[in-house]
Amino acid sequence: MSERIIILGAGESGVGAALLAKSKGYDVFVSDFGTIKGNYKQDLIDNNIHFEENGHSDNLLEGASLVIKSPGIPENTQIVESAVQKKIEIIDELEFGYQHTSKPIIAITGSNGKTTTTLLIHHLLTKSGVNAGLAGNVGHSLARQVIEDSAEVYVVEVSSFQLDAISSFKPSIAILLNITPDHLDRYNYDFDKYANSKMRITKNMQEQDCLIHFEEDDVLHEKVIQLTQKINLAPIGFKKSIKTVGFKSLEGLAIQFKEDQFDVPANLFPLRGEHNVLNMLAAITAVLHYGISKEDVLAHLPSFKNAPNRMEYITSIQGVEFVNDTKATNVEAVYYALGSYSNDIVWIAGGQDKGNDYNQIKELVTKKVKAMVCLGADNKKLTDFFEPIVSNISETQDVKEAARMAFEYAKSTDVVLLSPACASFDLFENYARRGELFKEAVYELKSEIDG
Ligand code: ADP
Repeated sequence: MSERIIILGAGESGVGAALLAKSKGYDVFVSDFGTIKGNYKQDLIDNNIHFEENGHSDNLLEGASLVIKSPGIPENTQIVESAVQKKIEIIDELEFGYQHTSKPIIAITGSNGKTTTTLLIHHLLTKSGVNAGLAGNVGHSLARQVIEDSAEVYVVEVSSFQLDAISSFKPSIAILLNITPDHLDRYNYDFDKYANSKMRITKNMQEQDCLIHFEEDDVLHEKVIQLTQKINLAPIGFKKSIKTVGFKSLEGLAIQFKEDQFDVPANLFPLRGEHNVLNMLAAITAVLHYGISKEDVLAHLPSFKNAPNRMEYITSIQGVEFVNDTKATNVEAVYYALGSYSNDIVWIAGGQDKGNDYNQIKELVTKKVKAMVCLGADNKKLTDFFEPIVSNISETQDVKEAARMAFEYAKSTDVVLLSPACASFDLFENYARRGELFKEAVYELKSEIDG
């Protein structure tokens, strides 16, 4: 009889894992606590995979030798705890996918910038003629892709939740962009625990593997010097130091690769903001390590287009620029967004708090934000903190009203920036929906005003 695998969660990663397990001949059963989305349900039906939804049955774990958990399921849920008690091995879809491929992995983690950097690496590789798979938050799960395993290399965006449940996962190139407070609600509000999760990306890396890391992130720096195994380290930063292999120069970026140094002039940058300087440094360093030439980097960097929802310019109304940064769901991301504009900002913030400490952006808000619109079910934490420093603050739970209120505060050349610092689940299905509705609201306002 074949080994029984239980898969918890039937989103992209759960269904990807189920399809891979089925293709490898396992006895697979998928269980989702909620309702399974139509396309994923169809994938399961088409492939003859048994499943249940809207709850886990009592005997679900009976006879199982492995549980594959979707990253969204916290470790303290009853079903995961009962698998632990029964001593059933629990892994993430990422680990399961990894176990079924021998292709190299470029893995990207950090609190912010993962998607941008992952997409940029994928762009530079594919434009240079490499058949690269894209996995993680964008693209399909790694497990689904390794069924055919046709890619030469996989570029994988990795979250701390996924890293919590790896065992043998070993990237040949890894990027640690930054470690700043996020998702603390999933880590008992223990920042060190969250930081250690991120560092697990290095767990199985060895001397021949390359770790690209942001040297000027204090938390990350401390953790990197504590690493016990030898890894080929490639530090990057805004300042040149003896060790940095990539840094921001006066003209753009300077990257030291092997014996060679090469410059990437700022006029080739496809992205704005200091944070994106870091993301570009990381991505370019990674592809050079993979073997892409500097000529290819310079030729293909300018054509990169980031995913929506990250400092995405929407349109202008009477000279007021509207920007959708709904993906900024923590304070650090807002810090960089506010710092990316020299104009006065009307800031739309709020949503579900993840343990935010606003002291980090207090100075920047004082300097740059002329008015604030709080868009959340409960805005008390924001208004209590910012009322003493921002003279105009309004509250609403309606995104259309938020766009209108912000426009009323703004004058020509100002920027209206939706950069919430919070998760979206209090009022919206997810961050992307919040961004979409905001864009709709802005276009509606524009057609009313401009006619
Ligand atoms: P992630 O996938 O880690 O959430 P994204 O690339 O989707 O990262 O960007 C999420 C948010 O963080 C956006 O608001 C973006 O402007 C901001 N951001 C991107 N890169 C960085 C960085 N290196 N440091 C801080 N904030 C960043």
